[in-house]
Amino acid sequence: MRRIRVLLSTLLLTALLVCALPAFGEQNGDALTVGVPTDRCPVFFVDADTNEIVGIGVDLMRAAAEKAGYAVTFKAIEEATLKDALDNPAYDMVMPFGSSISSASGQPSAVSDNLMQTPMTLVTEGGRKQMPALNQLRVGMLRSMGGAAETVRQLYPGIEISMYETMGECVAALRANQVDALLHNSYVWSYVLQKPAYSDLTVQPAAMFSMDFRTGTLDTPAGRAILERLNGGIAALTDTARQAIVLDHTSRRLYRYDFSDYLHQYGLILLLGALLFAALAIITVQRRRVYRLKQEEKLRWLMDHDELTGALSLDGFRSHVVELLTAHPDIPYLLSYVNIKNFKYINDSLGRAAGDELLRFWVEKTQSAMSDEEAIGRVEADHFAVLRHAGGNEKIRWDDYEVINSVRNYFTDRGKENRVQICGGIYALTPEDYRLPDVNRMLDYARVAEKRVRETKTEGYEFYNPDQWERGKRVAEVVNRLPAAIRSGDIQVWYQPQANCEKGEFDGAEALCRWNHPKLGWLQPAEFIPTLEEAGLIFDLDSFVWEKVCQDLRRWNGQGKRRYVSVNLSRRDIRPDRDIPGHFTRLVQAYGLSPNQLRIEITETAFAEDPELLISTTMKLREAGFEVEMDDFGSGYSSLHMLKEVPVDRIKLDLHFLTGTGDAEKGRVIISYIIQMVRSLGMRLIAEGVETAEQAQFLQSQGCTEMQGYYFSKPLPVAEFEGLDEKIKTP
Ligand code: C2E
Ligand code: MG
Ligand code: MG
Repeated sequence: MRRIRVLLSTLLLTALLVCALPAFGEQNGDALTVGVPTDRCPVFFVDADTNEIVGIGVDLMRAAAEKAGYAVTFKAIEEATLKDALDNPAYDMVMPFGSSISSASGQPSAVSDNLMQTPMTLVTEGGRKQMPALNQLRVGMLRSMGGAAETVRQLYPGIEISMYETMGECVAALRANQVDALLHNSYVWSYVLQKPAYSDLTVQPAAMFSMDFRTGTLDTPAGRAILERLNGGIAALTDTARQAIVLDHTSRRLYRYDFSDYLHQYGLILLLGALLFAALAIITVQRRRVYRLKQEEKLRWLMDHDELTGALSLDGFRSHVVELLTAHPDIPYLLSYVNIKNFKYINDSLGRAAGDELLRFWVEKTQSAMSDEEAIGRVEADHFAVLRHAGGNEKIRWDDYEVINSVRNYFTDRGKENRVQICGGIYALTPEDYRLPDVNRMLDYARVAEKRVRETKTEGYEFYNPDQWERGKRVAEVVNRLPAAIRSGDIQVWYQPQANCEKGEFDGAEALCRWNHPKLGWLQPAEFIPTLEEAGLIFDLDSFVWEKVCQDLRRWNGQGKRRYVSVNLSRRDIRPDRDIPGHFTRLVQAYGLSPNQLRIEITETAFAEDPELLISTTMKLREAGFEVEMDDFGSGYSSLHMLKEVPVDRIKLDLHFLTGTGDAEKGRVIISYIIQMVRSLGMRLIAEGVETAEQAQFLQSQGCTEMQGYYFSKPLPVAEFEGLDEKIKTP
C-alpha cells in the first residue's frame, strides 16, 4: 500500500513536471529580445517621434517571429560590431547577418533562413571614371557592418575592406581617395544619399550584388531551437508581405534635414538672408545716427537762431561775427544796428501776425543779398544787427534800395497805408576790431548812431562818426580802382635820392609810390596805403612797385649806372603763407640784377608786432643777398632789445619823430647816442627826413654820413631822377 502511494505520488509529480516544463519553456521562448543596429535607416533606425526602433528589418523580423509565435522586443546594440553583440547574453538574437560568422570571442554562430535578399550597392564620387573589378576593389564600410563585411570577403576574396565608425568618415575616406567605393545596402543608400552634402555621390548599379538578410545567435542548442522555430515563421512569410514591408519604408521620406543640411542646401539663400539682415541692421543704426545728428543739429540751430525769422540769435550772431573776423582779416566790414521806429504802431494797427510777417520778410530780403562771409542777427523784437562787406558808397546805397526800401514799402506795396520807418546806425570796423573782436562794443557804437537817427529823424541811417563815412567812401574809391590804376599807369614809382656825404654824391634812392587819381588828383601814400593794407590789397601794389624798380635798375645797369634802391615792404606783405624772400629772389633773377641792388625796408613797428616771422623773413632775405633796413627807427616803440635781436644791415633813423616837437637839445642828445650805439653794434645808419643844412651838419658831425630828405631832394618822377646831377650839395 505504502509502495503504491509512493508510486502514485511519484507519477503525479512526474506528470506535474512533464506538464509544467513545456509550459515554462514555452513562456520563456515566446518572448525574444533581438539586438539590432540603429544607424541604418530605413532598415533599422529609431523613430524620432515614438523613440522606438523601427525599419524594414524590424518589420520583417517581427512578422516572421509572430508567425512563429514569438513576441519580439528590439534593443539597440551597444557593441561595436555584430560579432561582439553575439557574445552578449542580453540578446536572444542579433541581426542582420548575411551568413554565419563566429563571435568576437571565437564561438560559432547559427543563422536563420533568409528573411529577404538585400541588394548591396557600391557608391562612388560622381567624377570617378573607372572602377576596378570587385575583387581588386578598396571598399569602405561602417564598422557596425562587420558581419556583412565578412560575408563580402568570403564572396570576393581579393577585396580590401576598411571599416569606419560613421557614414561621415566613410564619405571622407572616399573623397580622400583612401577607398574606391563605399558599400552598403541599397535601402540605406536610398536614405543616406538624400543628404544634400552627398549629392555628388553616385550609385554604381553595375557593381550590384545581393546579400542574405538573416538573424542569428550563438550556435547553442537553445539558439538552434529558436532558429528552427523562427525558420517556420520565415517560411510562412509570403513574398508579397515582404515586398509590402520594404515598400512601406522605402517609399517614405525618412531623411530629416539637420542644420548642416540646410546650410548646404540653402547656403546661398541663407548667406543672402544674413547679408540682407546685416544690411537692414546697418541701415537702421545709420538712420538712427543720422536722426540723432539731425536732432542735435536742430537743437544747435535753435540755440543759435531766432525761430521766427531764421536770423541768428544774439549769441549766435556774436560768435559768428568773431569767427568771420578771425577768418577774414582782409575784408573791410561794416556792422549796422537797425530798428523799425514805428513797429509798435504796426503791431497795434495791423496785428501781430502782420508784424511777424514783416520781420520775416526783412530777414529773407537781407539774406538774399548776403554772401557767406556776412551775417544777420535778431537782437530783440524789431532790432537787427547786420555784418556786411564795406563795399563803400555803392554797396551801402544798393542795400538801401534793394533791402531797406522794399522793407520800408512792404505794406504800401500790398495796398496798405503804413510805411515802415527804419532807423540804422553803422559802424565801420577798425583793424583793432579784427585783432580782438568785441562784438558787444561794436554793437554799442552802431546803436549809438542808430539812437541818434531815431531821436533826430523819422528814418534813415548814420555812421558812428562822420569820419567813418568819409573813410567808407574812400575805401570804395581806392579799393575798387586799384587794379585799373596799376594797369593804366595812374600809379607811378618816384625816387627820392639818398646822399652819401662822405663821397659827396648820391649813391642810392628810395622808391615811393604816387597815385594820380582821376577824381582825387595826386594821392600821397598815407592816403591810400593804410586802406590797401586793411583791404588786403597792399601786396598787389607793392609787387607792382618792386617790379617797376627792377625794370628801372636793369635799364640803368645797361647804361653802366649801377644804382641801389630801397623799396618798402609792408608788414601786411609778410604772411606765413607767402614766401617773400623767394619772391624777391625770383624777381632779381628775372631782371638779371644782383640782390644787393635792392634794399628792403621794413618798418620798425612791424618787428614789434610779429617778431618771429619778421626776423625769420629778414634772415632769409639777407641770406639771399639782399640788404634789409629797419625803416622809421625812432617813430615807434624803439627798444634796445630789438636792436639786439633784429639782424638788419642798416637802420633808417627818422628825424621827423625826434626833432618835430619838444626840446630840440634833448632830441640832438638822443640822436647822437643812437648814432653811436648803432655804429658800435656794427650796423650802418641812414637818417631820413633831413630838411635843413643844420640837421645835415649835425648828423655828419656825429658820424652819420648817409642821409635822405628834402634838403637834398624831394621824391622825383623817374625821368627827373635820371637827369639828376650825381653831386650833392655839401651841408
Ligand atoms: P617812408 O618809407 O618812411 O618814406 C619816407 C617818407 O618821408 C616819404 O613819404 C617821403 O616823401 C617823406 N620824406 C622824405 N624826405 C622828407 C623830408 O625831408 N621831410 C618830410 N617831412 N618828409 C620827407 P611818402 O612818399 O609820403 O611815403 C609815406 C610812407 O608810405 C612811406 O614812409 C612808406 O612807409 C609808405 N610807402 C610809400 N611808398 C610805398 C610803397 O610803394 N609801398 C609801401 N608798402 N609803402 C610805401
Ligand atoms: Mg621807407
Ligand atoms: Mg621811413
